[in-house]
Parts: sequence; structure tokens; C-alpha cells
Amino acid sequence: MEKLSENVFVETRIRGCNPGFVVTSEGVVVIDTPQLPTKALAMYEEARAYGPIRYLINTEHHVDHIFGNYYFDEVEHIVSHRATFDNFMTVYPQINPYEYAKEAIPTDDPEGAALFPDEKTYFSKPNKPDIILDGDSELKVGDHTFQILWTPGHTPGQLAVVVPEERIMFVGDTVFNGCQTWLYTSDLNAWFDSIDRLLEVDVDVIVPGHGPVCTKQELYVQRAFLLEWITQIAVAVGKGWTKEECLENLGFANRFPVDIGQEYMLDDVTKNNIASLYDQLTVKMSVENK
Ligand SMILES: [Zn+2]
Repeated sequence: MEKLSENVFVETRIRGCNPGFVVTSEGVVVIDTPQLPTKALAMYEEARAYGPIRYLINTEHHVDHIFGNYYFDEVEHIVSHRATFDNFMTVYPQINPYEYAKEAIPTDDPEGAALFPDEKTYFSKPNKPDIILDGDSELKVGDHTFQILWTPGHTPGQLAVVVPEERIMFVGDTVFNGCQTWLYTSDLNAWFDSIDRLLEVDVDVIVPGHGPVCTKQELYVQRAFLLEWITQIAVAVGKGWTKEECLENLGFANRFPVDIGQEYMLDDVTKNNIASLYDQLTVKMSVENK
């Protein structure tokens, strides 16, 4: 894994999210788990070599942040927001999370096929969170502080984890750095508020949910891209375009590739983003008109 400092390790070059861990004087705190079995097991072993895993924090419910929990057997506590717990591996219209995790195996982790559980085995121990948050929280582990901020927007249960002693924060999918942003389960108004909030946190380094490690500057870039997205769809809605017309003509396919291993999903991501934003804009309009 990439070593960001004496105590902080992340993995940004595999299919799925950017999982990481922080080594403290009293054990390890893991933030998200790799989706691919061999990567998940390798990270589990690597983290445990530094001490017991005291906490595993899931920053959201999307499969690429939680599926690997299955391989993290000896963890004292798993932490998430209530909305992440409630949506854990639930099937929503665009994605069946178990099937999505399975789909990546032949191309991205053929060796993981032997480690991939059948559906019954997986659901017998998905290692769901046992500490459920309704807002911010703080953990003290050894000489480290973990400020957990509820930053909804990309998902309703989105969390950021600030480690002031390391001057670093893990912002999860509130930032996609240099790759397409997934808006499927988003609430853009909440997302803008969360970016504002994270801009006030005093750190030097940001671990985004996808793409290379960056700085707070990337929060401005993410906000600009979200503004472009919402503006493009809002203008089309203003012109009276139907959802189908938007799906056919809009999007930002040329801006970025989709993150590692998912390049083939560009058309799907674009269309699901458009549909999500169209619904967000038109549902609000219809509520206001009542
Ligand atoms: Zn996500």
C-alpha cells in the first residue's frame, strides 16, 4: 500500500474505492475495505501486522466501500452512519451490489475467484456495522483522534474521517479526483453544504474516495464539476426537455474516464447521473408547484 506518513497507509490504484488505515499506539483504524477479495485479504493482513484492528469505519453504503468487510473477521467495532447501515447491500434500481462485486472478479481479480463467497455464505456474515451514528462523532484511539463528520450528499450516510495529528482527512466519495463522479444516490444540495464544511477543516492532505491523494484544492474542483452537472441539466429542464432528450444529448463523457477497472461503464454512469439529476430537479419543481 501507499505510505502517506509514518502511520497512514492508503491504496489508490485498485478497482474500487481508496481504502486506508491509520496505525495508533493502541491498534489500527481502517477506513473502508477493498472490494476485490485478494486486495481485501492482503490489506487485512497488512493492517493486523501493526496491531489489533480497533475500528473499521465505512464511509458509505456503495459496494466498493463495504463488500470487503466480509474478509475483515477480527475487528473490534465497525462504524457507519445509520443510512449506510440501512442501505447495506440493498439492491437499488441501477445496481445489485452482490452481483456487481462478483462481476469484477474475472477481469480484475481472477485469483480472488476461490475466495469469493456464494451469496448465502456472504449474507451469513457480511460484517455489518455495530456502531451506528446519526451525526458526527469522535473516537480516541491511543494517541490519535478520529473526528467523524457526517457529510451527506454523494450518499445519505456519507462520512468523512479527520485525523488532526496526521493533518489528513479521508473524505470518501465526496471527492472523485480525476475520474467521473457517480451521482446515482446523490443529493446535490447536501453535497455542496458538505464541501463547504470540509473546506473549513484544517488539514494538508485529502484521501478522496477515488483517484490520487490530493489537497483541499480538489474540493473546489469537485464543487465546480457538480455545478457544471446541475447547471447543464437545469438549463435543459428550463428549456422543457424530457428526461429522454437529456439522456440522449447531455453528460460529460469526454471530461474524465471512469475510475480504474470501470472504464467500460462510462455510458451507464453518464446516463444514471443524468437521470438522478433530472429527478432531483423536476421532483423539487413539482413539490414547489403544489
Ligand atoms: Zn460511492
